[in-house]
Amino acid sequence: MADKIRVAVVGAGGRMGREVVKLALQDQELELVAAVSRSEVGMDAGGMVGLAPAGVLVTEDLESALASSGAEVMVDFTTPQFAYKHTLLAIQHGVRPVMGTTGFTPEQIEELDKQCKLHGIGGLIAPNFSIGVILMMRFAAQAAKYFPHLEIIEYHGDHKLDAPSGTAVKTAEMIAEQRQELRQGNPHEEETIEGSRGGYYQGFRIHSVRLPGVFAQQEVVFGDYGQSLKIRHDSYERAGYMPGVKIGIQKVMERTGMVYGFEHFID
Ligand code: NAD
Repeated sequence: MADKIRVAVVGAGGRMGREVVKLALQDQELELVAAVSRSEVGMDAGGMVGLAPAGVLVTEDLESALASSGAEVMVDFTTPQFAYKHTLLAIQHGVRPVMGTTGFTPEQIEELDKQCKLHGIGGLIAPNFSIGVILMMRFAAQAAKYFPHLEIIEYHGDHKLDAPSGTAVKTAEMIAEQRQELRQGNPHEEETIEGSRGGYYQGFRIHSVRLPGVFAQQEVVFGDYGQSLKIRHDSYERAGYMPGVKIGIQKVMERTGMVYGFEHFID
């Protein structure tokens, strides 16, 4: 069997980080070599996620973890504030970054791409690791060629600050690449309650539902005379992102340069 890929997890004590720690400990092709976090420092990483002791203690100092653990890939789920700094640090240590944390400017991504190429390594910045979400967006864009009348409805928990979701915006952009702008609905329609028809984008509407207990869902509804089509994706929990994270870890080992967007890793 090929050597296992040695993985350092940053933000290991967080909700996503714990799932990545479990992945790295349970997957036959991966090996957890470092767990960095601001919480749970000093704990065994295995014990932290309810598994057998892993012999890897949670530490606070990212730089020494990158320098001494022998990590080949760093998976980071921390906060946007640290995203750029952590990515640069990883590249400088020859460790390939797989960034689930968002908040990069286009200029920063360009600089990180340069740095990756300079060090001859690959990297990934992925605002969304869900394979299902990427397929849902692609299928919706494909359907919009034949069904130009559509509405997007997305559902998230009521703690979410932004609306519509980043996924809904990305879906709308992908649809717009395949569909001529077309103002839908009755040209004389009037809203008696403001916002009833949802957000307007290139002639179609986007609706954001915010409710407690919801994780993340989106449907794109297409309508035509005598038929309708619904393309829907439901996320129930964070573990659903892990197959995508594993693909990210594997693919950055084969590439050089920074890739922005997980969709580039899904054929
Ligand atoms: P969380 O608050 O549960 O976890 C963040 C963890 O990072 C905490 O344990 C915190 O102690 C740690 N941390 C913060 N700063 C750190 C630093 N400088 N060094 C080391 N550790 C540090 O949050 P979460 O729900 O796990 O989400 C983490 C990030 O991932 C967020 O930015 C979120 O938007 C993003 N996210 C991305 C995807 C995706 O598919 N790309 C999916 C879900 C969440």
